[in-house]
Amino acid sequence: MRRKLAAGNWKMNGTNASLTELQTLIATHPAPQIDILICPPATLIVQAAGLSADSPLQIGAQDCHSAASGAHTGDLSAPMLADAGATAVLLGHSERRQGHNESNGLVADKVSAAHAARLIAILCLGESLAQREAAQTLDVIADQLRQSLPDTATATNTVIAYEPIWAIGTGLTPSTAQIAEVHAFLRAQLGDRFGRDAAMGFRLLYGGSVKPGNAADIFAIANVDGALVGGASLTAHDFSPIITALENAV
Ligand code: PEP
Repeated sequence: MRRKLAAGNWKMNGTNASLTELQTLIATHPAPQIDILICPPATLIVQAAGLSADSPLQIGAQDCHSAASGAHTGDLSAPMLADAGATAVLLGHSERRQGHNESNGLVADKVSAAHAARLIAILCLGESLAQREAAQTLDVIADQLRQSLPDTATATNTVIAYEPIWAIGTGLTPSTAQIAEVHAFLRAQLGDRFGRDAAMGFRLLYGGSVKPGNAADIFAIANVDGALVGGASLTAHDFSPIITALENAV
């Protein structure tokens, strides 16, 4: 049985004042039936992990370097993030792949680094609008999965997030059939690589303009084990109903 996961990505948003949103989430969901993860900016991980220490809320990071330490000015390593209190890290987000020219190979090295530091790697992948319109979606997904996911991946240390680039922050979402097709394809690809039983354990998240108003419909889709949420994770007011919708889908 895969435990559902509601994950929030605050991106480059949030200051100390934003921590009250986490306190509200904890108070609203003291004993959730699902896993809840917030990935704040790195500046807030220590405080966020501290205030959520005695609660089910988990704190994650948004990126890590592929090395454990060294001369990499401005970067943060996976062991540092774990030491700060993170239990997971987003990797391969399209804003990193596009804005920082991250290749599949680099993302794979980062996922390996996360695994070595005992962080859950949340591997993001997804097609551009041009790729979808050219009917290349499944080919792109297959390439990203094969090249960004190292052999150290297990259902315990890795979560896959399908995030079509054209749906991130746009208010657009794929149809139910489109999400179902990609998630079934991901499950089958994982089965080919890791074996059917192992593949059944991997959690597959959908990400891209998940809101309180569309969450229940998305969570009803086969092989959708939760969501990676950007904008709607910034406030407890918006994220809490998404958590509730996912609990109702259990
Ligand atoms: C994201 O950044 O991973 C994301 C899905 O953003 P949004 O929910 O705002 O589309």
